[in-house]
Amino acid sequence: MLVNKGLNVLLLEIGPKWDRNTIFRTEHSWPYEMPYHGLGRPGQYDGLWKVNAYTEHLYVHPRIDRYATAPGTDFHWTRIHAVGGRTNTWARVSLRMAEWDLKPKSMQDGAGEDWPISYSDLAPYYDKAEDMLGYSEPAKGWQCCPTETTMLRRLQPAAVKSSLMKGGRKIGIPVIPVRKAILLKNRDNRSACHYCGNCDYGCATGSRFSSLDAIIPQLLGRKNFTLRTQAAVHRVLLDPKTGKARGVEFIDTRNNLTYEARARVVVLGPARWSPRASCSIRNP
Ligand SMILES: Cc1cc2nc3c(=O)[nH]c(=O)nc-3n(C[C@H](O)[C@H](O)[C@H](O)COP(=O)(O)OP(=O)(O)OC[C@H]3O[C@@H](n4cnc5c(N)ncnc54)[C@H](O)[C@@H]3O)c2cc1C
Ligand code: SF4
Repeated sequence: MLVNKGLNVLLLEIGPKWDRNTIFRTEHSWPYEMPYHGLGRPGQYDGLWKVNAYTEHLYVHPRIDRYATAPGTDFHWTRIHAVGGRTNTWARVSLRMAEWDLKPKSMQDGAGEDWPISYSDLAPYYDKAEDMLGYSEPAKGWQCCPTETTMLRRLQPAAVKSSLMKGGRKIGIPVIPVRKAILLKNRDNRSACHYCGNCDYGCATGSRFSSLDAIIPQLLGRKNFTLRTQAAVHRVLLDPKTGKARGVEFIDTRNNLTYEARARVVVLGPARWSPRASCSIRNP
């Protein structure tokens, strides 16, 4: 949005920019082609979410690259340090908030408060975002999964889901495939999904939405956009006169040199590291 509005944007990314043709090398490997069938030596990946022999080269290993936790706790956070972050391996499930999600008090159990906005206020923005990202929809007319967009295409249920749907119909429980940010026709430099089902390990055809495949290519080459990879932001800098952010300090992870980027506006992207960067604000 900022680039489209004409602002000069510098995107700082701690990791590299992957080439999807080479990085997702395990995507189509069968378990018998992987050491320990991809599950690792006994105990190797115990307690780690989504990290296994298929994906170890994608994720930051929480036992090697550690961070402080409260004494006696073993919390770990699944991270990807590369352009696109975890959208490179996310499960693509993208639900809209339904009217009853926004009105829990009047439409659900009476608890909480209703939001002052309705689904109809959000719907045009969902339409815009989903058109940009590329979506497939499972079914129309479900209150729990509202959808208005006519550009969406029908995602065919896999065999196991068809069986579940059939069984569900018999006992009166509707079963619908989930909405996914997956392309069902070729678009830009991305191909239609070929239903390999290995989304957890990446997607070499760019069929699922990721910032790397769907957004960054549209920005690269624009005069007012610069992507700087291997740049670890570690501090927000404040203007002592105004008390407002005037930029960030970052470390180039290749040479460990510290740099300063000046800006009128600082947007901290990642949900987890934003609080950390906010906590290390420096004045000046
Ligand atoms: C396996 C898996 C399945 C998932 N499935 C779903 C799903 O089906 N539906 C759903 O809605 N969500 C899903 N999620 C969650 C979703 O992917 C994340 O919520 C979302 O990607 C978070 O976006 P983010 O921008 O906050 O962080 P990230 O996607 O993690 O992006 C953070 C970015 O910031 C960079 N960065 C971090 N620290 C710094 C720093 N100091 N300096 C510079 N750059 C930095 C990282 O390298 C990365 O590029 C899934 C996640 C995973 C891992
Ligand atoms: S081609 Fe389709 S099923 Fe295979 S990884 Fe990509 S989005 Fe997932």
